[in-house]
Amino acid sequence: MKIEHLVWLRNDLRSIDNPALYHASKQGKVAVVIAITPQQWKEHNESDAKTGLRAGLIQTLSESLATLGIPLHLIHAEKFAQLPDKITQFCLENGIKHLWFNHDLPVHEQQRDQAVFEALKKHNIATHIQPVDLIVPQTVLSQQGTPFKVFTPFFKRWVTLLAQQDITPFPAPEPQSEPIEPILLDLNWSKPFREDLWPADQDIAKQRLWQFCHHKERHYQDGRDYPIQPATSTISPYLALGALGSRQCLEAIFYTCDQEERDWQDSIWLKELAWRDFYRQLMGHFPLLSMNQPFKPDTNLLRWRNNQDEFHAWCEGKTGFPIVDAAMRQLNQTGWMHNRLRMITASFFTKLLFADWRKGEAYFMSKLIDGEFSANNGGWQWSASTGCDAVPYFRVFNPTRQSEIYDKTGDFIKRFVPELAELDSKSIHNPSSEQRTSCHYPAPIVDYKSARLAAIAAFDELKNLP
Ligand code: FAD
Repeated sequence: MKIEHLVWLRNDLRSIDNPALYHASKQGKVAVVIAITPQQWKEHNESDAKTGLRAGLIQTLSESLATLGIPLHLIHAEKFAQLPDKITQFCLENGIKHLWFNHDLPVHEQQRDQAVFEALKKHNIATHIQPVDLIVPQTVLSQQGTPFKVFTPFFKRWVTLLAQQDITPFPAPEPQSEPIEPILLDLNWSKPFREDLWPADQDIAKQRLWQFCHHKERHYQDGRDYPIQPATSTISPYLALGALGSRQCLEAIFYTCDQEERDWQDSIWLKELAWRDFYRQLMGHFPLLSMNQPFKPDTNLLRWRNNQDEFHAWCEGKTGFPIVDAAMRQLNQTGWMHNRLRMITASFFTKLLFADWRKGEAYFMSKLIDGEFSANNGGWQWSASTGCDAVPYFRVFNPTRQSEIYDKTGDFIKRFVPELAELDSKSIHNPSSEQRTSCHYPAPIVDYKSARLAAIAAFDELKNLP
């Protein structure tokens, strides 16, 4: 039988719980295509780590689809703009009559999909778009039919909708033939990444998810703020590239709660996944967020200091604030940073260095293996107090105090700032000048108290503007 259905995978590199793949395979034999667009990824600031994990996941996916008799092809293009032509050409050359994909939310991606749709239409090739990867795929709106701008009421409505929906993930497609040889893929665009920390395999991702739910989820609230503890799931890189779908997370958490006779609605971990949905839905409702704009337009008037030396010190983990430096070095060395540390470093950047959040957002994106536009933008705008439901501008994290609370023993600092390893657990959070000299560790690049007051004053000024 001829293959007439083509499934275009993007940031949904999985065979299980993939609506486009599942529904297409119900219609007839399918092939899978993935577009490799290195220049576009670069323009979107995609990190080498994420590109490397992407390549690895494509390789293992190609092998697992081959066992189902499904071929996976790559289309090479530099940018999205070339895809309408390249995908049309592929479809025409291979007798494809239907293209399937899952909806994507960011503005560029939507423009890309619209252009592909229009190009195919001219050749009578049908496009079938399936729902975006959200736990609650339908739009979560208030009673007035408007998008939520505050998380708590969003969450309440989200839980109500979730309770009403079928949560069973779609299975992988049935085998469509005997296993085939995977197509030899050109992966020379791949980059190195910490494969020891994130093996490129959707089955391992799934195991990690289930092990987390099974062993750690019930203690999540107690440990999740302490970077030294392996208390969070660390599945974010897999979610960002879609090696795991959000409904798979739901299945695991519902099963666990059921086994432990707990109410899933009380799961704090599930609430974190709701934040992911919240930011993704916001991005869909407010396209300006994808265009470098703050959620609160008046914050465009802030005159950020943007000191270049301070920026470099922050990027390199040489600010003289041990917890900030440990966090930035964790990011640079692994491509990942603990959530509490993302908040500390982003607050430090936007409030104490008073640097434009967009620069910090871009640096994070260029390093994160789990870089996801909506979550990253949401996190940065939250920290900078420019965003929707953001931290109040006068709440400025004190990095030393945060360090004393969340890295009490200093063990996390010692792991990433080894020059401070000999210091005791009290002084490691803010070493004396003598200790800094003997450890070859820099003096603080900013004075917390005066920088805090200056940031608050700058935000206060916005209130006096006409
Ligand atoms: P867990 O604590 O196990 O949480 C499970 C999942 O829920 C995560 O994998 C993630 O998908 C989602 N999640 C958790 N917290 C949040 C949150 N606050 N916002 C949105 N989703 C959340 N997350 C990203 O996935 N990509 C990013 O680019 C990103 N950038 C961030 C930038 C800043 C400044 C901040 C403050 C947060 C950012 N986050 C981002 C959110 C969060 O820090 C990470 O999702 C989390 O640290 C990933 O670790 P985990 O998988 O162990 O999370």
